[in-house]
Amino acid sequence: MDELTIIKLINYLRLEAQKGADPKGLKVDIETLAENKYLQPTFPDDALLFELGDFMPDPDSKVVDYDEYEAALQKNVEGNVEKISLSDDRDTSYFESYKGNAIHREMIEDRVRTMGYRDFIEKNANLFVGKTVLDVGCGTGILSLFCARAGAKRVLAVDNSDIAKRARENVTRNGYQDRIEVIQGRVEDFHTQRLIGKDKVDIIISEWMGYGLLFEGMLDSVLRARDLYLKEDGLMVPSHCTLQIAPVSDKDWVAESNGEKFWKDVYGFDFSSMIPGSHLNEREIGVFDVSEKSISGDPCTFYELDLKRIQIKELDFIVPFSTKLHDNSTSLDAFAIWFDTFFLPDGKGKGATGIDVAAWGKEGESGLGFSTGPYSTATHWHQAVLMLTEEQRKVTIREGSTLTGNITYKKMRRDDRAIDVTIAWEAEGAQGPVSESIKRTMA
Ligand code: SAH
Repeated sequence: MDELTIIKLINYLRLEAQKGADPKGLKVDIETLAENKYLQPTFPDDALLFELGDFMPDPDSKVVDYDEYEAALQKNVEGNVEKISLSDDRDTSYFESYKGNAIHREMIEDRVRTMGYRDFIEKNANLFVGKTVLDVGCGTGILSLFCARAGAKRVLAVDNSDIAKRARENVTRNGYQDRIEVIQGRVEDFHTQRLIGKDKVDIIISEWMGYGLLFEGMLDSVLRARDLYLKEDGLMVPSHCTLQIAPVSDKDWVAESNGEKFWKDVYGFDFSSMIPGSHLNEREIGVFDVSEKSISGDPCTFYELDLKRIQIKELDFIVPFSTKLHDNSTSLDAFAIWFDTFFLPDGKGKGATGIDVAAWGKEGESGLGFSTGPYSTATHWHQAVLMLTEEQRKVTIREGSTLTGNITYKKMRRDDRAIDVTIAWEAEGAQGPVSESIKRTMA
């Protein structure tokens, strides 16, 4: 069955159930499911369609009460509802990728990241003492352990990957089994909700950030968890993230980082097709450490995410940006995108954009946040690099001119974890105005 037919099937069965039809007497045939009226959801907030992710018309629709939903379902369906598997292949491989050792070691060894979280928790232990915390995607359990050590009364550590089994052992080995409860499951699933219970939590902590901030789409899950489990006056950790962009002009760096030097001469053969940014691979977003000296214009903050308030639909966006090119730059090779992470417990004040990250040390401001940009200590996120095409790299731009344009982040249609990033810009060229754009994908 294709996806639309599955949606129609769900809506058809619901409609029949509403009418009180006897399930045994129901006939499902192709003719019935060809009818477009069944594309209309029968339940306004249908949890099953919600779980099918892509198919929900509005991902922000009100969070359902799973207990009521399940009770209604139980009435009509024989057998065990919990056995129904709702995850797809993409999800399966996503969680598989988190079960191993190496990926967690890489994250823990990223000191900027891990100490960023630890310092915030330890310097603000008063926020954690006696509180309940939900750790969304606990991995090895490291953040849950920091919270418990700082005095949290109860920590719910949730992870859908098999790493949860190790987390449980890590918790017990360190003597925190009375305060940290490890739950293996998807944080938004009804089975997990039942284990977490009805009581809302004081704090949600999560390390959900992906390359280019939003790659992997984990933030969607964190925001659903926020809407399901966080108290009205609860705290999100981190509280804010900002996205930055800067132009890159450095032909040597490009040649080095995308392997141009290597691929152009492989035992005497030209293997240019392998070069990221070459015509075959030009759709990919690269992940590299860009050195400060390769940045050729003022960085521009183009988006701020207030994690307490932002809605899932706002994770697709189109926003303006502008940057003034440095005096000695006359062409563009790439754009670098990175993010800064903030821990602002009061949730008030000037927000994250008003904070001068440039004044932070290389590893961030202890307890306040960290940057993943080219001016700071490298992290495992590096920077997301969008290479220009060879033609675009040859265009001459006037020194010191201001580049203006817009940036689009958009989840791919059939894959919530992949993003398309489009940058369109205008500048003053040697032969009049220049107007260009690139679209790249991280999948
Ligand atoms: N908190 C850990 C691990 C962060 S990596 C640390 O800081 O080291 C993100 C983790 O979130 C992965 O282990 C992944 O399996 C988990 N995860 C992602 N989406 C999830 C979801 N919807 N439900 C449960 N776990 C999730």
